[in-house]
Amino acid sequence: MIDPTSDIGEDVDESTAPTCHTCGKKIMQEPNHRVVSWVDEGAVEHLHFCDGECREDWSGRRPR
Ligand SMILES: [Zn+2]
Repeated sequence: MIDPTSDIGEDVDESTAPTCHTCGKKIMQEPNHRVVSWVDEGAVEHLHFCDGECREDWSGRRPR
């Protein structure tokens, strides 16, 4: 008998939660959570930010 308990949902627990790249805060169901992704030499890179302010802080510091 197969036990139907596998839940493949968006279960975020503290050990797998991403952290904000700017301030280091754990992002747990953060409504303002931002993800920035880009392709760097064929590999997809992404960074998480807890809100738009942290995201802007990071992009403002990054020379283009
Ligand atoms: Zn942050």
